[in-house]
Amino acid sequence: MISESDLMELSMPDAPRMVTEVPGPRVRELLARSARYESVTRGGGGFPFIPERGRGVTVEDADGNLYIDLAAGVAVNAVGRGHPSVLKAVREQCDVLMHSIDITNAKRIALAERLSEVMPPGLAGRCHTAVYQAGSDAVETALKFARAFTGRSQVLAFHGAYHGVWCGTAALTTSYNYRHGWGPLVAGVIHAPYAYCYRCAFGMAYPACDLQCAKYVDGLLNGPYTGADDVAAVVIESQQGEGGYVVPPPEFLEAVKESCEQNGCLYIADEVQSGAGRTGRMWAIEHSAAVPDMLAWGKGIGGDMPMAGITYRADIENALREGSQPSTFAGNAVACEVAMTNIDLITDPALGLLDRATVLGEEIKGVLVEAMSSVDCIGDVRGNGFMIGIELVANRESRQPLSPGVCAEIAVTVLNRGVAVFPCGRYGNVFRLMPPLTLPRDYAFKALDMMIDVFRTH
Ligand code: PMP
Repeated sequence: MISESDLMELSMPDAPRMVTEVPGPRVRELLARSARYESVTRGGGGFPFIPERGRGVTVEDADGNLYIDLAAGVAVNAVGRGHPSVLKAVREQCDVLMHSIDITNAKRIALAERLSEVMPPGLAGRCHTAVYQAGSDAVETALKFARAFTGRSQVLAFHGAYHGVWCGTAALTTSYNYRHGWGPLVAGVIHAPYAYCYRCAFGMAYPACDLQCAKYVDGLLNGPYTGADDVAAVVIESQQGEGGYVVPPPEFLEAVKESCEQNGCLYIADEVQSGAGRTGRMWAIEHSAAVPDMLAWGKGIGGDMPMAGITYRADIENALREGSQPSTFAGNAVACEVAMTNIDLITDPALGLLDRATVLGEEIKGVLVEAMSSVDCIGDVRGNGFMIGIELVANRESRQPLSPGVCAEIAVTVLNRGVAVFPCGRYGNVFRLMPPLTLPRDYAFKALDMMIDVFRTH
């Protein structure tokens, strides 16, 4: 397993190091220029975090403030920023070929082969891959392919889902901000409650609930008079991301898959956020025995390069017309080479990044659970590996969410201490830890202590 000192070498030393209040003068100026020239629709609003230099799990802003980054560009930098092997891959591939053409290139073919090796059961060794740049591209494409394969049109997604914000995927994503005013959205999308045990839609407690949420999905798909008579696919996050880092009981995913089989629709696992080793396994679905028909990936596979795509059962290929889903930049050879480098690093048993995330993730959760005895606002701690959610509440008994305004204030206070961490969730009250898998222990516990310290004051 990679040593702690080797991990420290991948990041900048002595973080956090704060030299100004945040935002400092240069970041303030950048925010003003952004407001003047960029679209207000970008992520993050006025949140004063603008990385200027990044290495490993550390980033420095334009004012010279050095942060421990528990966000990793929103679960993107699985092996950290600027990993030496990634930089080498970029330099070498830049000299050979960058953009190719969406016919194909040797690197894109090699990436499809490599993905086939690391896919979960059901896809490994018998799949095809289509490569794009964004997670939204990947899920949009999955929907089209599912329609082509099944000859059906409807889609089932879940409350709290985030699958993208393009014209197709916005209909699946449930957040008000990504839907309101953009309609009409694509028709034929049905939503069901996700297995969010902390806030069970059925008011029940696991496991006594006997998985009412899975039964509800089964009723929708396989019961009479539900309107779900033409479902092409169920699209489901194996651990919900933007919706609040919600970990479903494994049997939920397994039951949904069984219902899909009975119905004849496809099970599309969206692993854009939960994949690439984030949960301590290559894919979060591997915490269950559910077998996907398609798997959407993105974020951590590309890391420092934009890269996303879908990998699907080989027989689905028979329903697809040649040349019917092109994309100009698909398969940039540098991005493909970097994706393969990332996969190699994530799965390298000698580095042991997956096992390490599992063990350290449990330790981190342990520290947070222990902190609950003195920090009233921590309502729930959940997650696998380095995909950990801390749900903050105003009242632990009633589980009333801490208000989004207070959570945003907490995020800025934590940032001022030198730790970058962002809330998510349906109520904006779930702080999510999604650091690179290369997070050194020293930085992990330093950041955690600071966060808990700030939580304690609320
Ligand atoms: N699916 C999931 C589960 C995601 O978390 C995201 C991004 N947050 C997407 C799809 C969309 O990815 P992108 O922003 O790259 O389009």
